[in-house]
This record gives sequence, structure tokens and C-alpha cells, in this order.
Amino acid sequence: MNILGFDVGGTKISAVLGDEKGKIKATIRKPTIKHLGKNRLRDQLFEIGDQLLKENNIKKLDGVGIIFAGLVDRTKGMIITSPNILGLDNFMIVGALKDHFRTNVVLENDATGATIAEKLFGSGRNSDNFLYLTLSTGIGGGAFVNGKLMRGQHGLAGEFGHMVIMSNGPTCGCGRKGCLEAIASGKSISRRVSESITAVRDSEILSKIEPRDLSAEKIFDAMRNGDMLSRLIVEETVYYLSIGVVNLACAFDPEIMIIGGGVSLAGNDLFKPLRDAVREEFKSMARPLKIVQGLKNGGDLAAIAVVLYNNENNSLN
Ligand SMILES: [Zn+2]
Repeated sequence: MNILGFDVGGTKISAVLGDEKGKIKATIRKPTIKHLGKNRLRDQLFEIGDQLLKENNIKKLDGVGIIFAGLVDRTKGMIITSPNILGLDNFMIVGALKDHFRTNVVLENDATGATIAEKLFGSGRNSDNFLYLTLSTGIGGGAFVNGKLMRGQHGLAGEFGHMVIMSNGPTCGCGRKGCLEAIASGKSISRRVSESITAVRDSEILSKIEPRDLSAEKIFDAMRNGDMLSRLIVEETVYYLSIGVVNLACAFDPEIMIIGGGVSLAGNDLFKPLRDAVREEFKSMARPLKIVQGLKNGGDLAAIAVVLYNNENNSLN
């Protein structure tokens, strides 16, 4: 099978060519322009999609998947809105792609797509009950419950990043205070470090990094190199994350909690203390919960996986 996948994110737009086994045969990536607009996005997707097909000599496609960082209406095939990419509200993107590529097209939110990728190709493969949490610029998620993807009444289930875990905490992009996203997303981790102005100035490692270049990755690196402020912020992040994980476990009783996204690439420096903290939180109501790292190429696989999952479940044409 030949499936063309698009991933439209806040920092980059990718086109990938994959098959039913989750093998990615080719990829093209472009940076996202903030004021993208409908026509420019459409033309860019046509261009990189056509280029992939031509370079790989593909004459016939078995489907197109598109993953979008924002709210989507998958049954209407429409982007509703995005906090990070402007000018795309109410864009009927599926119709445009269908006319151009002449095959079925499936649209999903990026976190939902990554959850489906875990079900088809990742740690969720053999599990009927698992949760997915993505720790990237923001925090999103998804759930398989009793073997089925949970969509909710409006197709918006899985917004785990907007659970409040610190009352009166930092203000979140959604307007609430103390959301998990306002504390443990990549952007929030960087923000919390840079707010400690005196500690940053006194830090041998952090004082050398330009504030705009600060990232969760650099903070984990600084912690590995002995930076005390970074260690403190990571420990605090892990603590609040463990509260979020335990809240979710109480609500869903999952077998596995899969954590993906850029921050998860910290690996054991995140997962080991997180497993310990969750065990500690769970002490009085102990239950087994596996906490594992998500697919490293989940973003690319998501756009392919949504087409395969849709075919299996026959939910759209
Ligand atoms: Zn929020």
C-alpha cells in the first residue's frame, strides 16, 4: 500500500510516504509560516505531496491522512481553529486534498493521530485500555477504552493538558489557572526556568543560553551537567506530572500510560523519577500501571495510521 501523510504542526509541515506496516519510505519537511492562510497551506500540501509521489514514482495512492495541531471536525473534514497557526479557521481541507489526490482523505487532531499510531504500531498494540499523553509545546492526549478510541460527544476527548493540577497556578493558554499544560509542557518548563531570573544569572550553564533558545531539552542537559536550578524545575515538573498521571489512572484504569512528544525524549531522566513519583502517589490504592515512552517517530506514523485505522473501522469514506 502507498499512503501519503501530512503533519501540519506549529513549527513544521511534513509530508511522508508510508505503508500498512508503518514503514516510512520518504519524508519532506518545511518550516511553518505563522500567518499561513488557507490558500498557502493548500498549495504547499499539493506541492510537497506531488513532489513525494514523483520522486518515488508512485502512480496510485491508497489514501491520504492529515494530522493537524489544533481543533478539527473530522466528519466535516474541516479545520476548526488552531492556537499556533493563524488564518485556517473553518478550512474545508479534506475536500481540497480529495480533489487533488483523488483518493479518500482522513483528518485528525495531532494527539488523536499519535494515539492511533501507538495502537497500530507502538506500545498500545496489544492493549485494550491505554492512555497517551504528548508532552510537547503543549500537552495533548488520547484514550483507548475497552479496545475503542474514545472520541467524546464533540470529538474533543483527551484534552488531558487542561486538567488543573495546581490550584491558582500559572495561567494557561486556555484561560484557566494551574493546568498540567501550564506547568509540564516543553514551553512551560522553559518559562518556569527563565522566571527564576537570579538563579539563571548565577547558573554557569543556563546563563550562557540565550533566553529564546532555552528548551526542555537544554534544561535536561543542564541538569545532567549538575545545574541545580534545572534539577529543581525537573523535579517539580515530575511531581506535578505524577499528579496528572494518577488522576488519569483513577478515571480510566488503564493498563499502560504512554508518554510521547519532545519532552519524553529525555528518556530515563524523566521516566525513572516519574515512575517513582506515581508509585508514591498511588501508595494507598496501589494498582499496576506501566508508564512507557511513546514512538519516537509517532508524528510521521500518525498521518499514516489514521488512514489505516479509518479503513479498519470503516468510519469515513
Ligand atoms: Zn489549560
